[in-house]
Amino acid sequence: MTKLYQGATGDWEAVIGLEIHAQVISESKLFSGASTAFGADPNTQVSFVCAAMPGMLPVINEECVRQAVRTGLAMGCKINLRSIFDRKNYFYADLPQGYQISQFKDPIVGEGHVRIDLEDGSTKDIGVERLHLEQDAGKSMHDQHPTMTYVDLNRSGVALMEIVSKPDMRTPEEAGAYFRKIRSLVRYAGTCDGNMDQGSMRADVNVSVRRPGEPLGTRTETKNVNSIRYVMMVVESEIRRQIDVLEDGGKIDQETRLFDVATGTTRTMRSKEEAHDYRYFPDPDLLPLEFSQEFVDELAKDMPELADAKKDRFVAALHISPYNAGVLVAEKESADYFEALLAATVTKSGKPLSELGTLVANWVIGDLFGALKKLGVGITKSPVSIDHASELLCLQIDGTISGRIAKEVFENMLESGKSPEAIVEEKGLKQVSDTGEIEAMIDEILAANADKVAEYRGGKDKLYGFFVGQVMKQTGGKANPQVVNQLLRPKLDG
Ligand code: ADP
Ligand code: MG
Repeated sequence: MTKLYQGATGDWEAVIGLEIHAQVISESKLFSGASTAFGADPNTQVSFVCAAMPGMLPVINEECVRQAVRTGLAMGCKINLRSIFDRKNYFYADLPQGYQISQFKDPIVGEGHVRIDLEDGSTKDIGVERLHLEQDAGKSMHDQHPTMTYVDLNRSGVALMEIVSKPDMRTPEEAGAYFRKIRSLVRYAGTCDGNMDQGSMRADVNVSVRRPGEPLGTRTETKNVNSIRYVMMVVESEIRRQIDVLEDGGKIDQETRLFDVATGTTRTMRSKEEAHDYRYFPDPDLLPLEFSQEFVDELAKDMPELADAKKDRFVAALHISPYNAGVLVAEKESADYFEALLAATVTKSGKPLSELGTLVANWVIGDLFGALKKLGVGITKSPVSIDHASELLCLQIDGTISGRIAKEVFENMLESGKSPEAIVEEKGLKQVSDTGEIEAMIDEILAANADKVAEYRGGKDKLYGFFVGQVMKQTGGKANPQVVNQLLRPKLDG
């Protein structure tokens, strides 16, 4: 069931399509050997080609082609063995060529679809229209001089993949989930780092509304939105604004809009009348891009396991719940950490993989993620090493410490950086499993609480917890709960 939006005059349906720009991971640019490293001083990574000096000719970077094909494979799209580079003509200070080399009618990657996971546990397939390769422009810097704008050409010529979706999304949540999924796919495939704050990924957000069952309405396109949350905010505010305009008897202009982070709303950037005529034509400096099916097959063979497959494997082989598996695979780094920790724990404990999956997953998602969130760091900056984490889990698995004590030790590990074994030793936190010791303690407790024992035997079952509590109190929480139960129950019932 598609979600509908209530207006004053009835229900509306929203239609959303995203054009995502993803910067290709490649040491050099799309048509030149200049470096793509982030954060260099302005204009230090500019070849004659990037600066569009007269007579310079573009030469295609094969690695960028491979990256585009890998991305297409990750999205399950058709790979086009022949594609064409076109010139997209417009004038701007940061575009020295006076045109951008892009792909128009014949992109390198054709149709496919990606699966998105929604909050209610359902999934939906979102169509991908195409992926094409193009060059990035330079950057205008307006904040360097009171009266002048400077231009930095370091980005000029950097390879971008533009991934165009079909208008298949219907809610802000779906748009956010799709953007998140594409980011996950390119990061797994190793084709884009997904760093939105460095501009490696951004989306143009197309939104329209219509009455259910009617043809598509007129859309607006909000440019350069650089976070998942902002994409969702743009969609939300555009839906509301367009419904208001239409219900007031107005009409939607097909226009380009800008997102204002401060107000969470969009405003007009340019209308259709001001729209560019790009005068696309095939770039005469470049031959059609052609490669063989073997080239594609070779790349397909070397593709890493992607999030969906990993999730399915975690569920089937490790018996992890689909929800938890989804949480673990959302970021490649989390999945890698989990798998490394699981492997280390298997080696140290000698227990089989299938028995430890849930324990390790619960620890990573609950304890570790909770701690990282408090510290405000990502998993790659985890203060707890795989080695220490597996040691902690093994202490719990072999019964040296209880689950409750494990949490205490973990807190201490985060503060001190010490190994869990050292902490357990230092603080005397070893679980008491010695039956003789526990039995003596139970006898003492029963003797000291004869009245309660009588009440329990008279039918007040609830008092059982009281006796367990007493044993735990005397041992500082260190008595092995299993041993306590084994000994206490027969004595009380005795
Ligand atoms: P253009 O090339 O002019 O930007 P496209 O037809 O390629 O136009 O569409 C660009 C994006 O807009 C695509 O992601 C597409 O799914 C989306 N889109 C197209 N029509 C609509 C619509 N009526 N409402 C919302 N999104 C749309
Ligand atoms: Mg467009």
